[in-house]
Amino acid sequence: MIDCPYCAEPIRAAAKKCRHCGEVLDIALRRAEDALRASERSGNVYMNAAVHSGPYRSPKSKLVAIVLALLLGGIGIHKFYLGRTAWGAIYLIFCWTFIPACVAFLEAIIYLLMPEDKFHEKYG
Ligand SMILES: [Zn+2]
Repeated sequence: MIDCPYCAEPIRAAAKKCRHCGEVLDIALRRAEDALRASERSGNVYMNAAVHSGPYRSPKSKLVAIVLALLLGGIGIHKFYLGRTAWGAIYLIFCWTFIPACVAFLEAIIYLLMPEDKFHEKYG
């Protein structure tokens, strides 16, 4: 038996974790837990930074998407702008049918009615 260095309760010498205070005694295990905690913390920082200031991707502007859909929606420019490249290509291919122009007009209205946060949630 040895005394736990954290709570001074007697524990078994081979114990990796104190059963009284829950502190990790095994050095390798302790390092692993610290590393895990550190990576979780830096992960949270990264997430917060992305949400609040977005240094890695510029947020898409709802207004720009609406204007593009109204003016150039017939050739799918707003889809390219919002990162929906495949859809943009489909609009471009079918632009001569004027169907994409009609759909784009409706989408402009949808963007207009969509709350700002929901728009960013969907398109970034
Ligand atoms: Zn302890």
